[in-house]
Amino acid sequence: MSSEPPLEDRTLVTEAPPPVSSSGRELEFEELVRLMLPHLGEDPGREGLLRTPARVAKSLRWLTRGYGRSVEDVVGNAVFEEKHESMVLVRDIEVYSLCEHHMLPFFGKAHIAYYPNGRIIGLSKLPRIVDVFARRLQLQERMTDQIADALMDVLDPMGVGVVVEAYHLCMMMRGVQKQNSKTVTSALRGIFRDDAKTRDEFLRLVHGGRMLE
Ligand code: ZN
Repeated sequence: MSSEPPLEDRTLVTEAPPPVSSSGRELEFEELVRLMLPHLGEDPGREGLLRTPARVAKSLRWLTRGYGRSVEDVVGNAVFEEKHESMVLVRDIEVYSLCEHHMLPFFGKAHIAYYPNGRIIGLSKLPRIVDVFARRLQLQERMTDQIADALMDVLDPMGVGVVVEAYHLCMMMRGVQKQNSKTVTSALRGIFRDDAKTRDEFLRLVHGGRMLE
């Protein structure tokens, strides 16, 4: 004979069912945030904090929504056959991400260029490709490479150049507290790497313009 109570008794001791709008996983996430608050010296029962776990869980899920997206999804069918034979550059694409070491924001601008090889992409897709990779726990270096490699995959161009300039709150708010140090990363593929003229043109266009203040 099992020592467990009969099924009908066990159902009596389960907690109140979750509201229909929240899944079990969301409630578990909220509970993790609630458990964190005393570690910070806070009282999770304080009125101003009652809804904070739900807000933080929702916010973090939104900030990391790139996990649920793929480059193929966001590009869709916005790749077109076109005989354009010059560099295409979109500068100053806003980037907001979270560093994977501290889960603190880093933010700045991405500059993306490619040299077509018979195919071009809808310009509005470039910021969306950035977001697929930025809205995750990230390293700026890896994100820069991922954006470049994704464009190489999707367009099969002559080459791709990506420069990301970003401020990291984990450096600005804590640790070394360097307020003005900007991290610049780049990824060069194809002729952007192999051809000095193309690379120089790209870097001149990126740095010749308005830089992140
Ligand atoms: Zn960090």
